[in-house]
Amino acid sequence: MAARRLESTSGASRDGTAGRMPVRLHIDWTRCDGRGLCTELLADQLTRDEWGYPLARRADDASNVPIPAAQLDAAHDAVALCPRQALRLVAE
Ligand code: SF4
Repeated sequence: MAARRLESTSGASRDGTAGRMPVRLHIDWTRCDGRGLCTELLADQLTRDEWGYPLARRADDASNVPIPAAQLDAAHDAVALCPRQALRLVAE
């Protein structure tokens, strides 16, 4: 699943080093089935619209969700467990 790992060349990884840099979770709604697994894993960052699609709770861009360092492991889990490969982490 290397392609689904954090898209960065700056050394970010699940070992915690990414906590020092801003990271966003990108949601590709064209792939998403709206069942909401990611919203359960990242309940503080994501909510669901009326059809069940995930949205950022606190961001100007609802499909690019700032991830605090404390939530980075949960964000990696969401990316790995998304059944539609609709999520990816991107370093800012
Ligand atoms: S886990 Fe994936 S498919 Fe499910 S709601 Fe989240 S983005 Fe969509």
